[in-house]
Amino acid sequence: AARGRERHFDGTGRTADGHRVQLLANVGDGASAVAAAEMGAEGVGLFRTEFCFLDRADEPTVDDQAAAYEAVLSPFSGRKVVVRTLDAGADKPLPFLTDASEENPALGVRGYRTTVRHPEVLEHQLEAIARAGERSGADVWVMAPMVSTAGETEQFVATAHRHGVRTAGVMVEVPAAALAADAVMQRVAFASIGTNDLTQYAMAADRLLGDLAGLNDPWQPAALQLVRFTAEAGARLDRPVGVCGEAAADPALSVVLVGLGVTSLSMTPRAIADVAEVLLSVSRDECVRLAGLALAAPDARSARAAVRAELPVLDDLG
Ligand code: PEP
Ligand code: MG
Repeated sequence: AARGRERHFDGTGRTADGHRVQLLANVGDGASAVAAAEMGAEGVGLFRTEFCFLDRADEPTVDDQAAAYEAVLSPFSGRKVVVRTLDAGADKPLPFLTDASEENPALGVRGYRTTVRHPEVLEHQLEAIARAGERSGADVWVMAPMVSTAGETEQFVATAHRHGVRTAGVMVEVPAAALAADAVMQRVAFASIGTNDLTQYAMAADRLLGDLAGLNDPWQPAALQLVRFTAEAGARLDRPVGVCGEAAADPALSVVLVGLGVTSLSMTPRAIADVAEVLLSVSRDECVRLAGLALAAPDARSARAAVRAELPVLDDLG
């Protein structure tokens, strides 16, 4: 059945009335990029570069990094690949960057914040990305994780431009960045919302604690408000705003995200066919209406139930 469904995706995500929504893949290395390209992903919306280096005791050389990045970029030559700079720390510690003695790693020196102590690691990485980008012919977009302020955004974009990155953006996964969306979006070419962390921080519920899964749920209306806020700022400024958290892989939630104004969805490649099929069954106005239902619900469980009840096509996905 999975095979049958793959044929439904013709490589161009859209709603029933033709509103375009890019359907992209989350990847972590060359092998997953090859698989994503074979499954018809329009591009890569999140390349988690730290996945190439989780087993390294030391910072990889620029040559090693460039080779690892090229393996991900090459299968998408001529297409968009969003490369995320290292997101070390918290749930993804890297021995050469992460201070294991922090009491609250999720609130600690992680993601872009590591540049405070180790600015050279970002410089090296951008150099390697630029090199791999030239060799691969991919349309390389670069973004930083865990950015909290417009000031950090400005710094990152300036650093990326100095290294020849033309399309620089940030992840919006800290509520402060979503609440400052206008100021953040003015400084970037694009943004990508990380709903995994955005939900964890909005709900003050650790994403690693199963007991809190009910709170740490991307259907939480408060988390969706932050998505809406960010997408609306992007629309005002004509900057694309994607989602690359697990939420994008939930077909019913993908409809809501599009209704909130998100312009692309990046997910595990095997989810793309189902998301494409459900999007194709609804108009953009319908997405907006369903997003309204989710926002008005008292909690995640009710939001999910309200929207799912309006999407009979979900029953056909198996
Ligand atoms: C996210 O936080 O939603 C995200 C995509 O990043 P990660 O899961 O790698 O933290
Ligand atoms: Mg994250």
